[in-house]
Amino acid sequence: MDADLDRLIHLQRLDSAADAARRRLAEEPERHKALDDRLEAARHALAAAKERLTESQHARREIEKEVAVHQSRLSKYREQAMSVKTNVEYHAIQKEIGFEQGEIKALEDRILERMLEGDEMTAEVKRADAELAREQKAVEADRRALAAESADLHASVERLAAERAGVVGGLSPQVLALFEQVAAKRHGVAVAEARAGICTICHVRLRPQVFNTVLRNESIVQCDSCQRILYFVPAAVAAPADSLGHPAP
Ligand SMILES: [Zn+2]
Repeated sequence: MDADLDRLIHLQRLDSAADAARRRLAEEPERHKALDDRLEAARHALAAAKERLTESQHARREIEKEVAVHQSRLSKYREQAMSVKTNVEYHAIQKEIGFEQGEIKALEDRILERMLEGDEMTAEVKRADAELAREQKAVEADRRALAAESADLHASVERLAAERAGVVGGLSPQVLALFEQVAAKRHGVAVAEARAGICTICHVRLRPQVFNTVLRNESIVQCDSCQRILYFVPAAVAAPADSLGHPAP
């Protein structure tokens, strides 16, 4: 294989890997934001559960105050009942007493409902609290993983840049210029494999004479359609391709 073509394939592999690493790094703020949002949602759920509990307890105290009002009226009527003079007065007071007792009974039923509700809401607060603790742990673990991945990515970007400098140093300046020019126009991908007469990136069929030249891998040939520099992977060499589908060097 032509030495420059071999270096171009290598260069493309390095650039594509560096590009993928940089794209992943660029997603970091968004991934941190997603973790912040998860924590915020758990905190919000806990705050909302606490607020519902507080409201329920407040409502219960209001009903208890009403009960106290009715109880003091009831006591007052009972005292009055001691000193009534007539049957009519007695019945009237008894009616008031009955009314107050009914009110108190109804209010006490409502207090009981609020107590049951309070128990549920207390359990809900506990659940939300435990959920927040779980989320805090999970988010911390995710942040540590993210930081480790970030360090790996930065290291590989540096390693790829150093390796790139070595490859570029061996390339002829015109070929490098062509690579850079095509890469700039084609989202960083300047080299394409030609397979079965087709450019595997733009999928346009090559002229037979172009493909025949590419088959030999002995010169720099560009795709007529996308301008990418073409290479061919012979079947015997293609066999030990790695798991990512990269041809063996
Ligand atoms: Zn093409």
